[in-house]
Amino acid sequence: LSRNPGETEFHQAVREVLESIGPAVDKHPEYAQAKIVERICEPERQVIFRVPWEDDDGGIHINRGFRVEFNSVLGPFKGGLRFHPSVLLGTVKFLGFEQVFKNALTGLPIGGGKGGSDFDPRGRSDREIMRFCQSFMLELYRHIGEHTDVPAGDMGVGGRELGYLFGQYKRITNRYESGVLTGKGLIYGGAQVRREATGYGSAFFVQEMLRVRGESFEGKDVVVSGSGNVAIYTIEKVHEMGGRVVACSDSDGYVHHPDGVDLDLLKEVKEVRRERIAAYAEKASGATLVEGGSIWDVPCQVALPSATQNELDADGARALVRNGCLAVGEGANMPTTPEAVRVLHEAGVAFGPGKAANAGGVAASALEMQQNASRDSWTFEHSEARLRDIMIDIHARCHRTAEEYGSPGNYVAGANIAGYARVAEAMLALGLI
Ligand code: NDP
Repeated sequence: LSRNPGETEFHQAVREVLESIGPAVDKHPEYAQAKIVERICEPERQVIFRVPWEDDDGGIHINRGFRVEFNSVLGPFKGGLRFHPSVLLGTVKFLGFEQVFKNALTGLPIGGGKGGSDFDPRGRSDREIMRFCQSFMLELYRHIGEHTDVPAGDMGVGGRELGYLFGQYKRITNRYESGVLTGKGLIYGGAQVRREATGYGSAFFVQEMLRVRGESFEGKDVVVSGSGNVAIYTIEKVHEMGGRVVACSDSDGYVHHPDGVDLDLLKEVKEVRRERIAAYAEKASGATLVEGGSIWDVPCQVALPSATQNELDADGARALVRNGCLAVGEGANMPTTPEAVRVLHEAGVAFGPGKAANAGGVAASALEMQQNASRDSWTFEHSEARLRDIMIDIHARCHRTAEEYGSPGNYVAGANIAGYARVAEAMLALGLI
């Protein structure tokens, strides 16, 4: 704590992992001897840089850019970029730390990292976004590369931003290095299903959690928080699986739509017009906008927090339990507070932690890297089938590991131990680096 003062989200993420890996550490004294825990908590490299840019009126702004390269024993650093005013070094470190274990869980050859900026894209014009992305890449390009560090999108960074970032990288380096970024547009080296992957993957994972309890999405009411990339494609897949998503949100409030969210309208509002969720509520018949309330008060059998960290607290978890919720799957990174996780576990609600449930995004990114390396591109169907298999595999690995280490049904323990063990074994194999 004293080495990383003020980094509360990072402390929270580290504590959650350390609290569950005890049984693995006991079983493998060689991990302690090699100081794996101490090494795993220290990023290999952290870069912080100035990002100056000019707005449409000629005003000058200075933002801060980050790239935390956490662990590369399994492959190049891999993890998204987040543009949001709340981003601090501790935010990026928490996300990078989680990413190490998540990426290990996929079974694919990718290390963990994360980056971003405290830049606020809200209300900025297209040209302002482009100028910011170009300035950000003017420093970032020195640190990334197909074999070194491969960023992707996260909050505030979608297809448009990745296009501007890739264009600037290409211009500076004079190299068409497709594998340097993932989440690219299909027309310039992107992969089918990457855009959908985190949301689809989260739905596949939760379907598995339901399946082992003899349940499915069929006929269930589902609440999905957020209305960004992860939320939209979670809703799409849940609807395909026979569930009905009755609420979604943004940071201004939530929409309750008991007949089921109209996905075409939601995509039009959020992806095409880039408007707020309030605009959806105005246009959708039977939908109500609730400002300032808690989305977790909406009765549902499955809840999928897919917006941001610590959005589901203990009160929210109690409301879910009261309303008979059976399963919670984290589409976002660390959206559930530790107290809320306790409430859900005590009530016997199946709980899928983000590093397992939302690993579909990074898994599809690794598949994009594979396609870039072999100058190939797969069909949507093939890519989705690969994603589905990977998510079923991650679920099985977490489930099996939890049982093996004496915590049956505890996916937090299963994910943390399985991810930790894979990284620890590689760190032992590579020696003291
Ligand atoms: P987006 O920027 O596309 O969407 C984020 C959504 O969350 C927006 O609707 C945003 O609303 C909403 N939101 C943000 N803060 C709050 C809040 N306090 N209360 C309610 N809603 C809020 O991001 P993504 O969908 O890509 O990411 C969402 C989460 O999923 C993040 O935790 C991210 O790290 C995680 N994730 C994303 C992956 C990806 O592939 N994109 C991969 C794995 C994890 P507003 O517009 O008001 O800010």
